[in-house]
Parts: sequence; structure tokens; C-alpha cells
Amino acid sequence: MQAARLHEYTHDMTDGLSIDEVDRPVVDGSNDVIVEVEGAGWCQTDNHIIEGMWEEFVPQPLPMTLGHENAGTVVETGSEVDLVSEGDPVICHPVQTCGTCRPCRLGETMYCENSAFNGLTTDGGFAEYLHTSERSVIPLPDGVEPIDIAPHADAGITAYHAAKKAVADLNPGDHAVVIGVGGLGHIGLQCLDAMSAARITAVDLKESALDLAERYGADNVINPSDEDVRSELDGITDGAGATQVLDFVGADETTAYAPDITAAGGDHHIIGYGGHIHEPSQALVDGEFSFVGNIVGRYAELQELVALVEQDDVDLHTSRFDLNEVNRVAEKLEHGEIDGRAVITP
Ligand code: NAD
Ligand code: ZN
Repeated sequence: MQAARLHEYTHDMTDGLSIDEVDRPVVDGSNDVIVEVEGAGWCQTDNHIIEGMWEEFVPQPLPMTLGHENAGTVVETGSEVDLVSEGDPVICHPVQTCGTCRPCRLGETMYCENSAFNGLTTDGGFAEYLHTSERSVIPLPDGVEPIDIAPHADAGITAYHAAKKAVADLNPGDHAVVIGVGGLGHIGLQCLDAMSAARITAVDLKESALDLAERYGADNVINPSDEDVRSELDGITDGAGATQVLDFVGADETTAYAPDITAAGGDHHIIGYGGHIHEPSQALVDGEFSFVGNIVGRYAELQELVALVEQDDVDLHTSRFDLNEVNRVAEKLEHGEIDGRAVITP
């Protein structure tokens, strides 16, 4: 089968991945599930992986097939698999977990001590077939097509995970801010809108992203290229600041907004990454705001997101590309030329 694989780290996105002919994965364990991939979202994390940003954090055997936002149809199952059978449409949680370690027992599947992460530590879904397990697939409800839902496997669940934490602390009348309305942000915004009564301000450098934000429920939008984010938010929140900030960029300039835009006792959620946090410790004492880390989301949270999708609360803005266009997609994303999410169709 064909697979888009990373052979060596590079900053040149024009030929980061190569299309290789590799063996089709087969069932070799009783809980294995083989999925024919119909849609695989291209995440900015794929660009980060190609650049080698994950090398010091996780084991990455190269060459490796990338792709962690996968959905498709089950074509083969191991002898003990009950949840799905051949022909079932599924979305694939990106992490294959053991089910028996303590974090797994607690439902904290992202902290599994024996996990493999599709397209990050093991072969992913930019390929015709994906090797995963019964513990990682979620059968799709009637009327939801794999190709339409694929980006929720990572962009969606990550945005949902952060939004769910934020919503727990958002009361009517409070303000929330979404920084970066791209693949993750356009979903996070809709999750906030569906699950809270907070007033939402979207911040993005691209007018097309701010148009999307308005369509998906933002009450206010700010473009830092020609507006001052701090003073605009001061006006919008009447000086109180935002109770919850979801930062889908995580650059030096966006983390630096925190002391000025976060309300007393509020949270600045770090979801995007690549920059640094340089605030003096006193800034977190005065006003008692917190920086909160977010890594993808639990298996059970993906089930909750699928429920939101089924009841039409969360839409996806996507464009589709062939497998042999992966490097074009990487480059387009690098240059801000993708709105919403690009989906590879192997
Ligand atoms: P994307 O490129 O689709 O979206 C990023 C958006 O942010 C774009 O609309 C861009 O215009 C905007 N932006 C860029 N710089 C900005 C700035 N300084 N101020 C305001 N807006 C700005 O990217 P994505 O795929 O949505 O990923 C977003 C980030 O989340 C990436 O860093 C990605 O690696 C990360 N990510 C994290 C997790 C996690 O588990 N925490 C999971 C997936 C992706
Ligand atoms: Zn485990």
C-alpha cells in the first residue's frame, strides 16, 4: 500500500514526507483492528514532527508514517474484538492504550504508561490502512461519515478537552478568549459556544479565520495585526479580563498576553506550542491566574465530542487533498493558506 513517510527531520516542508510502497498492516494481536483510512487530518503538529520538535520528548522510529487524525472503515479484526467488525465506520483515537495501567484504569488514557501514538511514535494514517486496537476506535453513529469527522480524532478532541475544562469555570456573564482560529481553534470555539453561556472573543492574524470565528459563534473578534489585543479586551470585558483563555498558538507573544488579559483566578490554557512562557512569578501571584497545559484528550472525551457532532453542535470547515499532495498541504499550512482543517484522503 502507499504511505506518506518521514525519513529524516527537515525544516523544508516542500519534501518533508515521501510516498513509499510499504506492506499493508495485518492483525497480529487478538485486540488488533485494521482500518481502511478514508480521511486523515493534517495537523500543525505534523509540521512540528517533520521539523524534529518531538524528537527529545518521545521515541520516534524513522522512517515512520505520519497522520494522527484518522477515520475510516474496519477491514479486519483480531479474534477477541467485540466492539467493531468488518465494514463498521470508526473514528480512531490517536493513542493506543494498554487498558491495565493505573492511568488507564482511571480513564486517563492520555497518561497510559504503555501507549503508542499514531503518527507520532508508531505508523499513522497517511496511508491506505492503519493498524490500531479495539481500545482506540469509536464506532460512528448512523449518518456520520468517516471522511467528514476525521479531524475530530485529534484537532477536535484536543480542542474539546481544553474547552471542557474551561467551561467548568465559565459562568454566564464571563468572558472567554480563543487565540488562533485554525484547525483546533475553530472547533474549540464551537465547543465553548455549545457548552457555555460565556461571551467569546476570537483572536487571529488572518481575516479569513476571524470570518470563520464569527460564523461559529464569536461575539467579538480581534486582529493583532492592526488592533491592540490588551486594550481591546479591556474594553470588551469592562476591565475584568477573560475568565478562560484558550491559546491555540502558544507563541511567545500569545503567552505574554496572559497577565494582562486573564481575569483574577482565571486560566490561560496552553494548547498550541513552540514558544516560551516568560512571565515573572509575581505575575501569577498578583491576580492568581494559572497557565494550564493540555495534551489531546481522553478516549471518553472523544465519545462526548462524537455526541456533539451527531447533534449538529460542532461543524468542521475542511478542504480535501490526495495522499500525494501531503507536502503541498504542509507548505500551505506553514504559509497560513489553510482555513479550518486540511484532510488527506488516502
Ligand atoms: P493552524 O495553523 O490550523 O491554526 C493556527 C491559527 O493560529 C491560524 O489561524 C493562525 O492564523 C493563527 N495564529 C498564528 N499565530 C498567531 C498569533 N500570533 N496570534 C493570533 N493568531 C495566530 O494550527 P492547528 O493545527 O490548529 O494547531 C494549533 C497548535 O496546536 C499547533 O501548535 C499544534 O502543534 C498544536 N496542537 C496541540 C495539541 C495538544 O495536544 N496540545 C494537539 C494538536 C495540535
Ligand atoms: Zn495504560
